[in-house]
Amino acid sequence: MSISHEVILQPAGGRFRCEEGQTVLEAALAAGYLLPHSCRAGTCGLCALPLVAGSLEAVSPPPAEAFVPPAGSCLTCQSRPRSDLTLDAPQMGAEPGQRTVTAGARVVAVERPSADVAVLALQVPPAAGFRFQAGQYIDILLRDGARRSYSMANAPDDEGLIELHVRHIPGGRFSEHAYTRLKPRDLLRVEGPFGSFGLRPGDAPIILLASGTGYAPIASMLKTHGDEIRRRGATLYWGGRRLQDLYAVSSAEAWEAAHPGIRFVPVLSEPDNGWQGRTGLVHQAVLDDHPRLDVHEVYACGNPLMIDAARQSFCRDRGLPEHRFFSDAFLPR
Ligand SMILES: Cc1cc2nc3c(=O)[nH]c(=O)nc-3n(C[C@H](O)[C@H](O)[C@H](O)COP(=O)(O)OP(=O)(O)OC[C@H]3O[C@@H](n4cnc5c(N)ncnc54)[C@H](O)[C@@H]3O)c2cc1C
Repeated sequence: MSISHEVILQPAGGRFRCEEGQTVLEAALAAGYLLPHSCRAGTCGLCALPLVAGSLEAVSPPPAEAFVPPAGSCLTCQSRPRSDLTLDAPQMGAEPGQRTVTAGARVVAVERPSADVAVLALQVPPAAGFRFQAGQYIDILLRDGARRSYSMANAPDDEGLIELHVRHIPGGRFSEHAYTRLKPRDLLRVEGPFGSFGLRPGDAPIILLASGTGYAPIASMLKTHGDEIRRRGATLYWGGRRLQDLYAVSSAEAWEAAHPGIRFVPVLSEPDNGWQGRTGLVHQAVLDDHPRLDVHEVYACGNPLMIDAARQSFCRDRGLPEHRFFSDAFLPR
């Protein structure tokens, strides 16, 4: 007989059941409670929540670079209940929202705009009820149960259309397949949406910071919240080694041209001769342009090393409050 436990989210009182074998986060997302999270691998720490009552066991073995939560808190992505639980989740409402779904997705189109990026258009059947918010990601489920995460690059679409930007990692299990062999009409299995990254309401001026395919969730945010981002004033810094790494540079330039109030700064770390633009590391360009960041909000996506360097230097050296740095690190699984 399988054992399930009830989880209560205080103070609003949302509640859901966690089945045997499920982590707290898996059960919350399946029930429609979008608890904060990103990597779901125990390393980013975004899913840490204070445990008010009950007991938990850790998913074993812990990851090599495990995030150690503060005393009295747990990583919901790495914890299974051993009893009914109460968690302190002040950001959650009482009622559930969009649930994660698992569905087949038909490949509609594959474009290869650069030497190592594939842009995939996928169609999830509208009847599956797949909905997402700008900034979220899906998992592609591989045949052996492994999964790979990719951020949606389009605006939320009621018809189930998804655009993904996949960087080819030579020898990588999914990205190599996507870049070299995937073709229209192929079928993939997807699960999602996941992730709590996305534009927060407010008036603070915005720094959008992307490396490589970290542009994907930023593109989704621009397509969805373009007017709001323009109203607040934003600069998009997009970094790569060479110009071809900025595989959608013309779309970013078009944003700048069409939306006064959104500035685009491409930054190359290994530019070819003749590059007239900014050079160096992309987070350094932000530091060079901003003596202070204390009134800003920063949204950073892509390479985990870039994100760590940006977080540390922006908060330590430029006065950015930690709680106004939002990120989605593309951590390998
Ligand atoms: C929340 C989230 C969102 C993501 N969104 C995107 C996205 O929109 N676009 C995108 O291209 N990727 C994204 N990723 C990364 C993606 O999930 C995969 O990790 C990546 O595509 C590699 O998968 P693979 O199966 O091809 O390679 P694997 O078979 O997993 O790895 C092959 C080898 O490459 C190494 N490796 C894996 N990833 C990287 C990397 N990024 N850089 C250098 N070496 C690496 C591995 O350590 C391993 O040695 C995201 C990751 C997360 C956690």
